[in-house]
Amino acid sequence: MESRGTKREAGKIEVAEPRNKLPRPAPSLPTDPALYSGPFPFYRRPSELGCFSLDAQRQYHGDARALRYYSPPPTNGQSPNFDLRDGYPDRYQPRDEEVQERLDHLLRWLLEHRGQLEGGPGWLAGAIVTWRGHLTKLLTTPYERQEGWQLAASRFQGTLYLSEVETPAARVQRLTRPPLLRELMYMGYKFEQYMCADKPGVSPDPSGEVNTNVAFCSVLRSHLGNHPLLFSGEVDCTDPQAPSTQPPTCYVELKTSKEMHSPGQWKSFYRHKLLKWWAQSFLPGVPNVVAGFRNPEGFVCSLKTFPTMEMFEYVRNDRDGWNPSVCMNFCAAFLSFAQNTVVQDDPRLVYLFSWEPGGPVTVSEHRDAPHAFLPPWYVEAVTQDLPSPPKTPSPKD
Ligand code: GDP
Ligand code: MG
Repeated sequence: MESRGTKREAGKIEVAEPRNKLPRPAPSLPTDPALYSGPFPFYRRPSELGCFSLDAQRQYHGDARALRYYSPPPTNGQSPNFDLRDGYPDRYQPRDEEVQERLDHLLRWLLEHRGQLEGGPGWLAGAIVTWRGHLTKLLTTPYERQEGWQLAASRFQGTLYLSEVETPAARVQRLTRPPLLRELMYMGYKFEQYMCADKPGVSPDPSGEVNTNVAFCSVLRSHLGNHPLLFSGEVDCTDPQAPSTQPPTCYVELKTSKEMHSPGQWKSFYRHKLLKWWAQSFLPGVPNVVAGFRNPEGFVCSLKTFPTMEMFEYVRNDRDGWNPSVCMNFCAAFLSFAQNTVVQDDPRLVYLFSWEPGGPVTVSEHRDAPHAFLPPWYVEAVTQDLPSPPKTPSPKD
């Protein structure tokens, strides 16, 4: 139709032209819970692809040597009496938090196993690779009111890698951490020592040192919405008595929390702490979180198991509670946002996603140091391995 064509021409001049001259608004992603309350998105049951261990010197081993075995005290009517302050600070070897490991240990595992990944050779090229802890922060973002985050993202041979960057505020907090908070961190690890043994079927030995360099990490595969995921998370222990011995369903997450005495204290615990516990354990499919409740003197006198899949029930009817759908929908939206932002395939190019409570997620672009995080040994090894153009053997060869 003639008139339509004319209108389109006119539109081109009057609308499209000025639009091109307007500065393109910087893309951003809102985080308000109300925007993400749709139905729960698809989340594939996580399956374990492998594992690795870090030893007392923080050295990598491609095996389960650091895995510990759940060994709770006998349930003979007595309550536990774990002194979480025992051994502090003389039997404490804390990890050096100045060392920024970024994705390095996970990349080492990936380098050694990428040839054996199921889902075909193309699977990794379409996947997102990151730590479980980074995904946990994404899940809780719509409800977080205290701490912001920064995530660096690079695309390399198709794969999108996400690695957290410590915010300036988090760095200041870490460097000025009050002595009481340092001791509280120790107490969390000490609880693990009271609840775990190095071998199945033996009792824990809390007489040794607490060395937080030691870690057992599970590497998992899952899928959120249309995003294939490969991530790794530190696992506290495995339960030799679990109904299924198949990881990750035999894994147990251990936590400590303040003893509670009033319904108000419990309500606040369900709203804030259980959200973090749920997000961390739901992602890798860890079915149970065992909490030790400590009294003001630092003794754990009671234990309670929280099945991950039952945690939401505590806030389901609370208007100020959290909703798993919101967490997962936001995470899926962020992953789509990141996939659409990080278009160029270049391990030296970094998009830095930044978020502070009360605002949207914003993006900035960087090249090389200090933000580039894919190490040369990884980039070089993977680049050399690319199916190179077939070499025509020349008579000289
Ligand atoms: P979490 O869920 O926050 O405990 O983190 P992950 O399970 O995803 O841990 C990933 C890797 O980061 C493991 O090697 C952990 O030992 C390490 N890690 C965990 N928490 C911290 C932390 O607060 N700082 C640093 N630098 N590394 C950490
Ligand atoms: Mg723990």
